[in-house]
Amino acid sequence: MATRFSGGCLCGAVRYEGSADPIFMGNCHCRDCQQATGSAYSAEIGLPAAALKITGAVKYYDSTADCGNKLTRGFCPECGARLFGKSSAMPELAMITAGSLDDPSQYAPGMDIFTASAQPWDHMDPAVAKFEKMPPNEQ
Ligand SMILES: [Zn+2]
Ligand SMILES: [Zn+2]
Repeated sequence: MATRFSGGCLCGAVRYEGSADPIFMGNCHCRDCQQATGSAYSAEIGLPAAALKITGAVKYYDSTADCGNKLTRGFCPECGARLFGKSSAMPELAMITAGSLDDPSQYAPGMDIFTASAQPWDHMDPAVAKFEKMPPNEQ
């Protein structure tokens, strides 16, 4: 059964919804995610891009990941909340941030990635799989 997701930004100007089996759920501890979120990591859910319906104006910012892929992060231009992500390496994939869900308890991280740059004050769940960079099965 596909899971129903809905959520939005802090001010409510941007909303999204979708029904899909998540492709992955994971915490990214790379420096870019730390800077983009202002926190220890970015909690991301990967969904088929076709399943995600967005309403409201989203501003996107592109950066180049250390693997050379273009990473695009979407946020609300009004309140600045980080909502979406996509990678040039996986155009069919859309990422949403776990904290923006209407029900954030739907998030169940299956991996910690880029743990090589995780911060000493970032306490990770030892039961969750760890990858120093990208997981090896990543296309
Ligand atoms: Zn907003
Ligand atoms: Zn990252």
